[in-house]
Amino acid sequence: MTRREIIKQGGLALTALALPFTLTAFAKFNSMTDKNNFDVIIIGGSYAGLSSAMALGRSKRNILIIDSGLPCNRQTPHSHNFITQDGVKPSEIADNAKSQVLKYDTVKILNDLAVSGQKSENGFIITTQTGKEFKAKKLIFATGIKDIMPNIRGFSECWGISVIHCPYCHGYEFRNQKTGIFSNGEKAFHVTSLVHNLTDDITILTSGKAEFNNEQLAKLNKHNIRIVEKEIAEIEHENGQIKNMIFKDNSKMSFDAVYSSVPFKQHSDIPASLGCELTEQGYIKVDNFQKTTVKGIFACGDNSTMMRSVAYAVATGGITGSMTNKELTDEQF
Ligand SMILES: Cc1cc2nc3c(=O)[nH]c(=O)nc-3n(C[C@H](O)[C@H](O)[C@H](O)COP(=O)(O)OP(=O)(O)OC[C@H]3O[C@@H](n4cnc5c(N)ncnc54)[C@H](O)[C@@H]3O)c2cc1C
Repeated sequence: MTRREIIKQGGLALTALALPFTLTAFAKFNSMTDKNNFDVIIIGGSYAGLSSAMALGRSKRNILIIDSGLPCNRQTPHSHNFITQDGVKPSEIADNAKSQVLKYDTVKILNDLAVSGQKSENGFIITTQTGKEFKAKKLIFATGIKDIMPNIRGFSECWGISVIHCPYCHGYEFRNQKTGIFSNGEKAFHVTSLVHNLTDDITILTSGKAEFNNEQLAKLNKHNIRIVEKEIAEIEHENGQIKNMIFKDNSKMSFDAVYSSVPFKQHSDIPASLGCELTEQGYIKVDNFQKTTVKGIFACGDNSTMMRSVAYAVATGGITGSMTNKELTDEQF
C-alpha cells in the first residue's frame, strides 16, 4: 500500500470511528512530526494504557499513547464493580484518567490507529494509519480484545446493555429479573450457578442440543432452571433493551436480560507480528511483570488476561508502567 493510500484510508477510518472520547483530550498532541522519538510508545489509551502512562509520566519518561478510541465497553451505559467509580459512564472514567495523565508534560496522546511495528537497532518503530512513524525504546500494548458478535439480528445492538457478559459487572442491576443464559455445557452451568444467587427466574438457551451431564441436569432441575433448546433467530429489543428472544420456529420468550459470552480476537495483530507468543486461549503471553516473550515489549489489560475488568486493566497497567520504567532505568543507570 502506498503512503498516499495509507493516509487516505486512515482519514476515512477516523471519520467513521465513534470517538467516544472527547477530542479535547487529544488537544495536547501537536507537531509530533519533528518529535518522533520516545522512551515508550503505549498502543491503546483506555484503562490499561492510561494506567501505565500514569506511572511512566510520573517517572518523567517521554511517552506517546496512540489510541483509536474503541474501548470494548463503549456501548455499556454504566460501569460497575470498580471501587470509587461504581455506576459511572465508561467514557467518563476514561476521560477523567486521560485528563489526569495529560497533566504530566512528558505524556503525549494521538488519536490514530497503529497499523504496523518493526524492530530497530535501539528499539521499535510504529507506523500509524495516517502514515506517521514513531520510534521508541520500549513498547506497551494495551490494545484490548475485539468481541465477535454472533450472526443474530439484534444481538450487537443489545451487547453491554441487556445482553451482558459478566454477572459481576451488570448482574446486580438485573437482580430478581427474568434472565436467560445463552450458552451451553460447562460454561452455561458455571454462569448459571453464579447468576442463581441474583435471580431465581433463569432459562438456559442452548440454541441446539443441550450438553449437560446427569449431575448438572439434576442440579439445574433442583433449582427450577429451565432449558430451551430451540434455535435462536433474533433478539427483539428497544434501544438495546431486550424484549423477546425469537426462535426459528417463530415462537418467542420474553426476557429482561440475557448473559452471553462471545468469542474474541486480539484487537491488534502487531504484537504477534513482532514475535510475541499468544496463549492457547488467544491472549498475549506475559509473565508476572507483564513482560511478553519479546524483550522490550509489555502487554496489559484485556489482551493478556481472562480476568476481564476495569480494575484488573488498571492494576496490570500500573504494574506495566513501573516495570517498563525499571527496565529503562536498569539499562541507563
Ligand atoms: C460490554 C462490556 C461491558 C463491560 N462492563 C464492565 C463493567 O461494568 N465493569 C468492569 O469492571 N468491566 C467491564 N467490562 C470489562 C472492561 O470494559 C475491560 O476489562 C476493560 O475495558 C479493559 O481495558 P483495556 O484498556 O485493556 O481495553 P479497552 O478498554 O478495550 O481499550 C483498548 C483500547 O486500545 C485501542 N486500540 C486497540 N488496537 C489499537 C491500535 N492498533 N492502535 C491504536 N489503538 C488501539 C482501542 O481503540 C481501545 O481504545 C465490560 C466489557 C464489555 C465488553
